[in-house]
Amino acid sequence: MRKLIFASGNPHKVEEAAAVLGDAFRIITPAEAGLSGEIPETGNTLRSNSLQKARYIYEHTGADCFADDTGLEVDILGGEPGVFTARYAGEACDPEANMQKLLLEMSRREYAASVAREAGLSTPYATRRARFRTCVTLILDGQPHYFDGILEGQIAREKSGVRGFGYDPVFIPDDYPDRTLAELPPEVKNAISHRGKAVRAMAEYLKGLK
Ligand code: IMP
Repeated sequence: MRKLIFASGNPHKVEEAAAVLGDAFRIITPAEAGLSGEIPETGNTLRSNSLQKARYIYEHTGADCFADDTGLEVDILGGEPGVFTARYAGEACDPEANMQKLLLEMSRREYAASVAREAGLSTPYATRRARFRTCVTLILDGQPHYFDGILEGQIAREKSGVRGFGYDPVFIPDDYPDRTLAELPPEVKNAISHRGKAVRAMAEYLKGLK
């Protein structure tokens, strides 16, 4: 069984990644590896953040490890919040506040677009299209390898569902257009999710080695 440190303190993400990687791998958390404190995350792209987090773990342990960074890109917000997804409504990283801000900002843009259209101005059609994008960095024998995953969907007008975490209650995936991610069983979310895709790509790469 191959051991990998996952640079995350989020138990939901650890569970998701463990389910995707299966029995051939054992995921170790930074705390289990004896690391405490915040892992720095100061980059301005998903890739640089995931590399920074993985590198931090590697430099402190010398062990094989991986990190992920995810952004929510909303078309009507010009791709925001993107790399600022976790802190969209402030440093508290509060999911409720983040979702409220997202819904409010989208209503504002939709209203502005409708006013512009009524005034005869050309304006990009206001859709609620969005995607989650994950970049995973795996550090193996000191060398970084990158894996990406994307989940396309739309932002709901209001929250529904209680499963999952983060923005799940407002994200409707194209694969299941009648419900949000927070209404899907975890194994179904894992099968379609941005992180599931990126972690599966990493697992395929690891299984192909030797
Ligand atoms: P991180 O880089 O994975 O920590 O994610 C950044 C932000 O995206 C956090 O606010 C998370 O709550 C949110 N996020 C990441 N993955 C998911 C997901 O699978 N569902 C909903 N929100 C997510």
